[in-house]
Amino acid sequence: MPEEPIDPTLQSKVITGLVKLSQVLKSQAWKGATPQKLTPTQGNILRQLKAEPQGLTLSQLALQQGITLATTSDAVTMLVKKQLVKKIRHPLDGRQLQLTLTPLGEQEAEKTSEWTGFLMEAVGTLEPAEQAILLQTLLKLIQVLQQQGQIAPVQMCFTCAFFQPNVYDDPQSAHHCHFLGGPLQLAQLQIDCADHRAIELPVLR
Ligand code: SF4
Repeated sequence: MPEEPIDPTLQSKVITGLVKLSQVLKSQAWKGATPQKLTPTQGNILRQLKAEPQGLTLSQLALQQGITLATTSDAVTMLVKKQLVKKIRHPLDGRQLQLTLTPLGEQEAEKTSEWTGFLMEAVGTLEPAEQAILLQTLLKLIQVLQQQGQIAPVQMCFTCAFFQPNVYDDPQSAHHCHFLGGPLQLAQLQIDCADHRAIELPVLR
């Protein structure tokens, strides 16, 4: 079958859309910028803990965030070091530790919510399947930019030695993770995975 010709006007419309998004992101990031330099995972954890003032255990947090225990533990360690999160004894079971925000963490969570809240709302208007396809498309773009040396390495599925693409017929769950030992739904693709093992990327000429 002949390949479809590339439509230059379609490409330029995509670029225009991305530029418009980057402009709004830049202006919002400027408004919400803080000296803490949080990663997206750390910001998400702060927002999650803000929504659960009674505190969460590490495994509850990992479950609610949809990330591994190891990723959650690494992010929490950094947040404790930054004095944004503290560990307290569970009120009903003294053997268990719970995570809550410090007063500084409360302030930081407020700022990170302002920073991404508008985008979260916009993305939330998309169907879950549309969000998953958008995630996959963004990861593909990040991979190309990483190959071109335009972006710092990202611990995502597409650059991971455990990732095997297009193993299954289901378009919503086509890929396989050898670390987890099972199929990955599009919505489960990771962008900041503690279990990531980097592969050598080919140098583009
Ligand atoms: S280990 Fe993490 S980054 Fe690697 S394929 Fe599995 S989920 Fe993706």
